[in-house]
Amino acid sequence: MRKIALSHRFQALMTLVAGLSILMGSAGLVLNHTIDTVIEREAELKARNWARYLAEGLPEIEKVVAGEALSPASRAFIESINSNGNVFRFKLFDAEGKLFLASDALDKTGSIQKNLTTHNPHAANVVKTGKAYTAVYKGKPPGKPALYAESYVPVMKEGRTIAIVEVYVDQTAHKELLRTAVSTETFLLLAIVAIGFGVPGIRVYFLNRMKQSADERVRFLALHDAMTSLMNRANFMETLSAHLSKEQGSKTLTAVHYIDIDHFKTLNDSFGHDVGDAFLVLVAERLRSVSRPGDLIARLGGDEFAVAQFGFSGARNAASYAKRAVKVIAQPATINGHDFVATASVGTAIAPQHGHDATTLLKSADVALYAAKANGRDCYCVFGPEMNAALEERQRIERAIWNAIKTSGFDLHYQPQFNTEGTRLLGFEALLRLPDGDKGLISPDIFIPLAEEMGLISQIGNWVLGEACRVAAAWPEHLTIAVNLSPAQLESVELVDTVSRILAESGLSPNRLELEITEGHLLKETDAVLTQLAELKTLGVAIVMDDFGTGYSSMSCLWRFPFDKIKIDRSFLSEERAFDSNAASVLKTIVTLGHSLDMVVTAEGVERLEQASLLQSIDCDQLQGFLFGRPMPQDEVAATILDDFASRPPDIPGEEPEEQAAV
Ligand code: C2E
Ligand code: MG
Ligand code: MG
Repeated sequence: MRKIALSHRFQALMTLVAGLSILMGSAGLVLNHTIDTVIEREAELKARNWARYLAEGLPEIEKVVAGEALSPASRAFIESINSNGNVFRFKLFDAEGKLFLASDALDKTGSIQKNLTTHNPHAANVVKTGKAYTAVYKGKPPGKPALYAESYVPVMKEGRTIAIVEVYVDQTAHKELLRTAVSTETFLLLAIVAIGFGVPGIRVYFLNRMKQSADERVRFLALHDAMTSLMNRANFMETLSAHLSKEQGSKTLTAVHYIDIDHFKTLNDSFGHDVGDAFLVLVAERLRSVSRPGDLIARLGGDEFAVAQFGFSGARNAASYAKRAVKVIAQPATINGHDFVATASVGTAIAPQHGHDATTLLKSADVALYAAKANGRDCYCVFGPEMNAALEERQRIERAIWNAIKTSGFDLHYQPQFNTEGTRLLGFEALLRLPDGDKGLISPDIFIPLAEEMGLISQIGNWVLGEACRVAAAWPEHLTIAVNLSPAQLESVELVDTVSRILAESGLSPNRLELEITEGHLLKETDAVLTQLAELKTLGVAIVMDDFGTGYSSMSCLWRFPFDKIKIDRSFLSEERAFDSNAASVLKTIVTLGHSLDMVVTAEGVERLEQASLLQSIDCDQLQGFLFGRPMPQDEVAATILDDFASRPPDIPGEEPEEQAAV
């Protein structure tokens, strides 16, 4: 494209130069012609005056013409006028055009004509027509001037032509004068013409250039993404299609990689859109850095990119690019003073086995991308036919989420929490359920990450908060309600206001509400998150660290924020660990640590009596698990509460639980 632009510019420049050259050349020709004409006219005028002067100063001219010798006076007169001004020579012809006198050969007067065999045709013509004849010649100094005119004019007496005189006029100096004067004027004229035509011409030229570059930009933008300068989706698909049809029948493979930045929305929300945009540009650069010449790299839109590669001999090579792309994108980045690591997931499809055409290939790569996301992100997956079913399932759940939002179709279940002996009901944890038609319920472990990706989790989470508080407000006052928060809710600046409003609307006392967050919330620990948590605590709400021990930095989380409670993850009580002698000491250490930090310790996933006894023996404060009750619908909660009342000694109802429930 740059080449074409250059050749356009060159052509325009050449046209301008050619135009100016023609203008200058024509002006030069006109100038010379004008000067020659002026020289001619002037020489003729001079010759006429000179002829009149001759006729007056040489009264016996008629006699001389007739062949009489020159008188001394006439001779002296002729000699005096011979080199008069710029007349340097003259000749006289008789009325028939025959030469009889030449000023530089006066001695031969009269005899000259005898030597002539012919008439001088110019002189003869002047005799015949009565019109003067002038011609301009170039001479060779010193013999002749560099430029002179020969002008034949009639010498008249009493209305008769008595002779013809040919006057030689030296016009060398005159021409120079004329040339200088006319050249200056012509130059000025040319300058005016050039400005008159040139300025608009130059303007037109630059306007054309601007139009050309605007056209080029429009063409570029039609095919590329403005932010990253990568190909856009339409261009990518068209070019990929063209390649695929060309490669048809060849033995080599084509790979298409679908690349999506993990949690890009969070990146945007945390650092602002400027940082998000700059990161997309950085991703484009990083993809270029690991690609080969000839690879197609495109930004499909938002945080989605695609790369197509040709000529692979085996699927393994395609996978190795996907691996490199994952690795290069996950390099630490520093943008606008923010240091962060953002990762990407990659789905890879290979032609011809995963699709023959561009659309099918990209769709297969997209399916593989979903699989990579489901595998925990920051990784790649190569398409497999079984993934289609997984994608369809995912899309079905996404539709169910939308449907539940539209029709208030979510449900809350409540799982009881007991004291360590399992004798006192302390409260419930609200657990979200998505009904799935006849198929029962969809697990929150499946639909909550999807709702997070769909950007709907805050909306859903706020509904859970409101509903759980509304329901719990009707329970006996010593019972607490625990609600799980998603990272998006915690990052929202409105969380504290929302919780205050819900507490006020439901009439639930703040000290009965526990908000559960997981380690992941604090990994991206920002001052804003810690401030929100502190403000919630100030409201009187308890903050609980959920799923304690599952992450890499559970311990360090405890120093970052003064949690009211920690919930040991149920994986510590799993079958594999049941007979592990170390498990008890680890659990004991966690409990002791929690207590030393003034935190209540709860164990989740208690399914068997031995587990409960172990937890009791190590002073774990509270227990939650199928042993004490599964998550139940709201209408079964009342029965559990009644059971708890029924199981207490009749004389001291509700005395102890208040103490234990306060965390
Ligand atoms: P979680 O907060 O750790 O909730 C406890 C999970 O353990 C629940 O799974 C519960 O049914 C399960 N559980 C309790 N006792 C036992 C047991 O003895 N054995 C076994 N095997 N499992 C037990 P559930 O309801 O499937 O929820 C899974 C996760 O989904 C929750 O883990 C929580 O992280 C998330 N979740 C649930 N509701 C919400 C919600 O409203 N908002 C958010 N953000 N997350 C939620
Ligand atoms: Mg929880
Ligand atoms: Mg948990």
